[in-house]
Amino acid sequence: MASQTLDIFCGLCGAFLVGYQKKGSGQLIRLYLDHVTHPDSIARLKSVAKKSDLPPLACTACNNRVGLAMSREGGRWAYRMIKGSFKRKRGN
Ligand SMILES: [Zn+2]
Repeated sequence: MASQTLDIFCGLCGAFLVGYQKKGSGQLIRLYLDHVTHPDSIARLKSVAKKSDLPPLACTACNNRVGLAMSREGGRWAYRMIKGSFKRKRGN
């Protein structure tokens, strides 16, 4: 499946949040941490030990909450993205 690079922005203030390598097209429902390309402060959360070590994904500028921690079988950590709280653009 083809993948695309997305830039995710805060839906309220427009601040850049994360760069993401998304498989396929369609809605961004789950944000897998091992597909976050930057910033490092978020990408490195892929190696947390437990779900309680995963803080909600929030805008660093205005604190708007855009994702909630979830876990999945296989040990891949992900955020469930909150619909309408973020904007996405195709990166390069
Ligand atoms: Zn914001």
